[in-house]
This record gives sequence, structure tokens and C-alpha cells, in this order.
Amino acid sequence: MKQLPLQTTFGQIYLDWSLGETHPMQPIRAKLATEFIVNELGDAVEVIEPITEELKPLVRSAIESVHDKRHVARVLDEFRDGHWDGENPGNAAALLAMFSGTYRLVQSLKEGKIRVGFNPQGAKHHALKGESSGFCVFNDFAWAARELESLGFRPLYIDWDIHAGDGVQEMLADTDIPTISIHNGTIFPTGSDTRDHEKYGQRHFWHNPSKHWYNINLTSTDGDDGLAWAMDQATEIIDEYQPDIILLAAGADGHVGSPLAENTFTQAGFRSAAERIAELANKYANGRVLIGGAGGYQPYKETPETWATVVSTIYRNTLVQE
Ligand SMILES: [Zn+2]
Repeated sequence: MKQLPLQTTFGQIYLDWSLGETHPMQPIRAKLATEFIVNELGDAVEVIEPITEELKPLVRSAIESVHDKRHVARVLDEFRDGHWDGENPGNAAALLAMFSGTYRLVQSLKEGKIRVGFNPQGAKHHALKGESSGFCVFNDFAWAARELESLGFRPLYIDWDIHAGDGVQEMLADTDIPTISIHNGTIFPTGSDTRDHEKYGQRHFWHNPSKHWYNINLTSTDGDDGLAWAMDQATEIIDEYQPDIILLAAGADGHVGSPLAENTFTQAGFRSAAERIAELANKYANGRVLIGGAGGYQPYKETPETWATVVSTIYRNTLVQE
């Protein structure tokens, strides 16, 4: 019996993406998550460098295929993201590598080398075509969804980061690719066109059929039962679309104690949600799931633990006999 490996992208360059010592985004979370995943899954894990010299021009072209060239040049050539402090030349190289991590996993999926891949610094879901937003500069998952579709896959994007996946939704609005965002609508990014503003503060479901947007809103105090309810709604959509690859933005910032939200998801809640993704991936997608870390602001423990739980649960539950 031969099992395909789990690929996780990590390199020291990920640690260069710094927005300042006191900023909630601390890149150490990616290093710890990688270590926790290796502890969980051992030899089944291939940790791959996110970028090589050879890949740099290809990755830049991929970024330019979904973003305005002006935005790309501002970040990569002028070292300005235009949105928050902590800008430094090292960020540009790190941002290219973070996008490249997802690029490499898409290549591996395309070549059939993996079914499950994880980029802890992937799923930068707020980034917009022409600008950075919410600590996200280049939208690697919007690119990945389009690329996979162009390769003949039927991708579906689902996002349980506690903030709405507005950038991905905007950047895929002109495609037939469905996007599901589970989020607390009372917090950032309020004002986005991708959501139903009248229903903030209560659990509700909103669908924009022309853009294939599905939004599942949770309240500020929703915990594991809220996440389970949201996954029930999401399951109906996935059953309808029957995607042959699932893209998951596995934000850990709805975790209890998270500094940027009041929600109270626990490891058990995330594990159940991951089991559901694995079940659906087995049913429709031959176990294929591309996972990005998205948000997570408890960098030393809860965030890497959550990612390790989610990634190892999905990997273990999608193993098949070759
Ligand atoms: Zn978030």
C-alpha cells in the first residue's frame, strides 16, 4: 500500500514577513505549525521550500495574472504595501515566497504527487486586485482557484477564518467558482460589498447567485456549535456543487481567546469541521484539499495547534489505498 505524502511549505524566508514586534501577525506561527504537523504525521510529511530562484519569475507572472501590475510593482520593487506599518525590503521577498508556497502545491496537485497540501502562510484572503488589505498582500488562493479551473478541475473555496473572505470573493466574482465564507460579520472587513450588512449580529445565511457567493454569518459569541451549524450549511452547498478539489482557508482566529475576535471555537470544534471537509473531499474530490493558514493571532500555541489539528485530521481521513 502506497500513500501519497502531505506536503507542507515552509522555509526560513517565511519568518522574514514581519509587520513589527507588537503586531498580531507573528510569522513564528508558521514554523511551529510545521513542527507540530511533523510531530503528528512523521514520515508522511514532506516539508518543501516555498520558492527557488528558478520559480521567482514564474511566481511573479502568476501574481500579475490576478493583480494589477501597479500593485505588484509597488510591493515587490518599491517595498511598500500601502496599508500598515512594518514595511521593509525583506517583506517583498517573503511575500513572493508565501505566494510561491501555494504555487508549488498547485503544481504538486496537478502532477498527482499529493492529495493534501498545506501552506501555513497561504490563503491571504483579504487581498484585493489592486491593493493590500487586512495583512494580506497577494491573493494566492484566488489565483489557485483560477489556475486549478484552467487545468480542468472544478474547485470550490471554503473559508472559516473568523473574518470574511472578501478578497477571494471579489476576485472570483466573474468566475463560476463557488466561494463559501463562514465568519463573524460584526468585525473586519465591515463595509465589504461581499456581505449582507443588514443581518450582522445574528446567525444567518446569504447567497448571491450571480457571483456564486455563499456567506454564513456567526454571532460574536458563537463557539463550536456555531461552527458546526455553519458546516451543516456549507455541506449542502458542497453537495450541490460536487467539487473535485476543495480549497480551504483554515483561519484559526475564531479560537477561544483570540485577540481579534470574541468567538470561542476549540480544538474539538476545528477537528469536527476538518472531519467534515475530509468526508466531502472523499465523496467528491478523490480526497483533494488545498489548505492555507489564513489568520491566526495566538502564534505560539493555539494557532499552530489548530492548523496541525486541521491538517493532520484532513490528511488522515483522506488516505486511500493506491
Ligand atoms: Zn482572520
